[in-house]
Amino acid sequence: MAAQLDRIRPQIEKRIQNVLDHGKYILGPEIRELEDKLADFANVKHAITCSSGTDALLMPLMAYDIGPGDAVFTTPFTFIATAEVIALSGAVPVFVDIDCQTFNIDPEKLDDAITKIKSEGKLMPRGIIPVDLFGLPADYDAITPIADKHAMFVLEDAAQSFGGLYKGRSVGSLGHVAATSFFPAKPLGCYGDGGAVFTNDTNLAEKLESIRVHGKGSDKYDNIRIGLNARFDTIQAAILLEKLAIFPDEIMARNRIAAEYTESISNLSFLKPPAIPRQCTSAWAQYSVLADNRADIQGELKKSGIPSVIYYPKPLHLQTAFSFLNHKEGEFPISESTARKIFSLPMHPYLSDSEIRRIVSALNSI
Ligand SMILES: *Cc1c(COP(=O)(O)O)cnc(C)c1O
Repeated sequence: MAAQLDRIRPQIEKRIQNVLDHGKYILGPEIRELEDKLADFANVKHAITCSSGTDALLMPLMAYDIGPGDAVFTTPFTFIATAEVIALSGAVPVFVDIDCQTFNIDPEKLDDAITKIKSEGKLMPRGIIPVDLFGLPADYDAITPIADKHAMFVLEDAAQSFGGLYKGRSVGSLGHVAATSFFPAKPLGCYGDGGAVFTNDTNLAEKLESIRVHGKGSDKYDNIRIGLNARFDTIQAAILLEKLAIFPDEIMARNRIAAEYTESISNLSFLKPPAIPRQCTSAWAQYSVLADNRADIQGELKKSGIPSVIYYPKPLHLQTAFSFLNHKEGEFPISESTARKIFSLPMHPYLSDSEIRRIVSALNSI
């Protein structure tokens, strides 16, 4: 983002220069410095940086020994990576429909789905991956008791929600373990790929550090498990340290912009603004609205030079990659109807008042 780079360019260049000077490109000192700051920010004991948000989701599944015969529950209305890692680990992704207000997993349907899988007796329910979609935390106070009842772990997919809050608790601390992404377009993005895993479980954190470097034991030529090369780059950590310093301010800006959007479009009968439950703060990765005549509205916006994007046009149960699960249209009706109606307005912390006014007036003139 150009406006963000303008704001902190000298600091970023100095940070990169420092890495070039010390030359510790792999797991250099900036990695530890960043992990300490990320753990503080998320209010957890351990933050383990890694190569992407996808690996941040995969590593905990590996640490929990998820594999064939296991069932891991998530929603079909998310980015492919959430369910992809379940299949990659050898387990079966079991989809649960979303809540129509929050677009996050519906806890009641979750409990039913787990009970059904248990009664069928073919798969072992092991974990739940709630997704904090568009930046809004899922309903963890409803999800955690269900996980506890069935002795399952909760892996928070916080790729879009880092910087958000749920009832005063920080995103990253809401499950047994959490994964975020530093892909450039996420609320806290670096200049390449990256991610991090968060947990208070010290035993799990040790396994994650081992998995990140080829399953290392006491040293890197002692390998005690199958792992990955999933390290975060030192240069990216150096960049992210400067971005993290301005991140709280950016989250406030996103919330201010979201409030302005909601106030100015709530009178439009053809748009449904996002509903944020009380006691929750979204990180506003996206500002997503629903419209029955989505194509017309997007077309009008385009004529005024305003870009809008659809997240997500096709729920995962209908994706070719998951055709082996044999799902059919109609199985997850809320996800399907949301995919038909949703689109996102421009959202980033450097949107100016005049840009917001232009977007709002374009919507008002439809
Ligand atoms: C972006 C994203 C991921 C994957 O992150 P990458 O860093 O791109 O691998 C996973 N889950 C969700 C919900 C995402 O939005």
